[in-house]
Amino acid sequence: MSHAAVIAELAERVCEDRHPVDGVYELTVTALDELARETDPRRASAYFLMQALDLLGYAPQLSVCASCEQQLPAKPAAFSPAAGGFLCDRDAPVGAPLVPVAAIKVLRLIASGDLQTYRRLKLEPALMDDVEHVLTTQLEHHLDRRLKSLQFLHDMRAHS
Ligand SMILES: [Zn+2]
Repeated sequence: MSHAAVIAELAERVCEDRHPVDGVYELTVTALDELARETDPRRASAYFLMQALDLLGYAPQLSVCASCEQQLPAKPAAFSPAAGGFLCDRDAPVGAPLVPVAAIKVLRLIASGDLQTYRRLKLEPALMDDVEHVLTTQLEHHLDRRLKSLQFLHDMRAHS
C-alpha cells in the first residue's frame, strides 16, 4: 500500500458513488504522473484529494466562513466537515482545534489548481499533516466508509 493505492482506491470510490464522473480518469492520470515526479508523495495525494473533492462537489470552503459566509481573516481557523469548510470565530464550536494559516494557504493554492507554484513550495511534514487532515476529514465525512488505504497511511505514520 502506498500513496498510489490511495489514489487508486479513491478513484474507484468516486466512480462507485457517482458514476459516471467526468474527469476522474484524467484526474487519476494526472495524480499518478505527479506522484511519479514528486519527491514527497504526500503532496501528490493531497493535490488529488482536493481535486477529487471538487469533482464530487464537496470542495471545502476556504476563503469565507462555511456557516455565515463572511470573509475569513488571515488567522488560524476551525475546520468543520459537517459545515463543509472553515468557520469564523463566532461560528466555530468552543475549543475546536484550529488549523494554522499556513495550511489554509496551501489548501487555497491546491484548490486554485496552480500546480507550478505548488511544486515549488517547501512543505514541512507537520504542515502536510494539517493539510492532509482537512482533506481526509472532509472526504470521509462524505463517503459512507473510511478509505482503507488512507487509514493505512495514518496508522503507518502513527507507528513511525
Ligand atoms: Zn461565520
